[in-house]
Amino acid sequence: MDNILVVGSMNMDLVVNTNRVPDKGETIIGKSFEQVPGGKGANQAAAVGKLGGRVSFVSACGKDSFGDDLLSSLQDKGVDTSSVFTLDDNTGIAAITVEEDGDNRIIVVQGANASLSPEMIDQVEGKIKEAAYLLLQMEIPLATVIHTIELADFYQTRVILDPAPAQGLPREIYSKIDYLLPNSGELALLLEEYDLRDEEDKIEQLLDWGVKNILITKGSEGVTLYHKGSQQVYPTLKVKAVDTTAAGDTFAGALAFGLQKGWDIDRCISFGNRAAAISVTRPGAQSSIPSFAEVENMKG
Ligand code: ATP
Repeated sequence: MDNILVVGSMNMDLVVNTNRVPDKGETIIGKSFEQVPGGKGANQAAAVGKLGGRVSFVSACGKDSFGDDLLSSLQDKGVDTSSVFTLDDNTGIAAITVEEDGDNRIIVVQGANASLSPEMIDQVEGKIKEAAYLLLQMEIPLATVIHTIELADFYQTRVILDPAPAQGLPREIYSKIDYLLPNSGELALLLEEYDLRDEEDKIEQLLDWGVKNILITKGSEGVTLYHKGSQQVYPTLKVKAVDTTAAGDTFAGALAFGLQKGWDIDRCISFGNRAAAISVTRPGAQSSIPSFAEVENMKG
C-alpha cells in the first residue's frame, strides 16, 4: 500500500534543432537531432522512480523500437513497467522543432496512447486497489481518465491529477480528487464553460465541488496551495532556466514522492519546487529530472 501508480501517456520526442523552420514546400538542412523519452505520464513516472520512490506505470506503446527504448529508459529509473500494454499501433511521438531563439513547434501523434481504454484499466484494477496514490494527466482518452479516478475513489486510493492538456471534466469527478495541479491556463480551460471571471472564483468553485487541495503551478514564481478557507504561497529558487520542458512533470512526480513518504504538505511542495527548479537548469524531459540526493543538496 505504499506505492504510486501513474496512468498516462508515453511518447518519443523527436527534436530537431534548426536555425529556422522551412516554408511550405521547402527543404532545409537542420543543425542537430535528438531522440528524447517524453510523454507526461512517462515523465512523471520517471520522476518518482529517479527520486527513489516505488512506482508502477500503466500506459500503451507500439511494438516498435521507440516503445522498446521508452520502456528501458523507465526501467533504468526503477519504474515497474509490467502493466504497460504493447499494441499493434505506433508508439506515440512528438515531432518538435526548436529554432535558434528557443521558439518551438510541436506535433504530437498519439499512436497507442489514444487506445488506452477504460476496459484496459479494468485489467489492471488490482494495481489501483494496491496503490497509495494514483497520479494522472490528460494525454490519454478522457473517458479513461474519468474511469480510473472512479476506480481509485472506490478503493480509497488518493488521486493526484495534473490536468494537462486541459479540457472540461464532469462536475462529479472533482470530489474524488485529492490534489489538483493546474497552471493558470489549465485552470481557465477546466472551467471554460462556466461564467467565472477571476482566478479566485474558479478556485473557489472547484473547492466547492469537492477538490481537497489545489496547487497552482506558477513557473519561476513557484506554487500557491489552496484549501477551503486558506491559501499559501511557496516561492521557488532563482535559477538560470535553460529548458522548462517537464518542469511541471518533475514537480508532480516529486510531490507524489513526498506524499508517499508521509511528509507534510509544506515539505512536499518545497521538495517539488526544488526538484523542478533543478530540472529547468538542464535540457530535455526525462533527462532533466534530478535524483533525491541532488534535490536534498540543493541550496535555498
Ligand atoms: P510544463 O512545462 O511541464 O507543462 P507547467 O506549465 O505545468 O509545466 P510551470 O508552472 O511552468 O508548470 O512549472 C512547474 C513548476 O516548475 C513550478 O511550479 C516551479 O516549481 C518549477 N519551475 C518552472 N519554471 C521555473 C523557473 N524558471 N525557475 C524555477 N522553477 C521553475
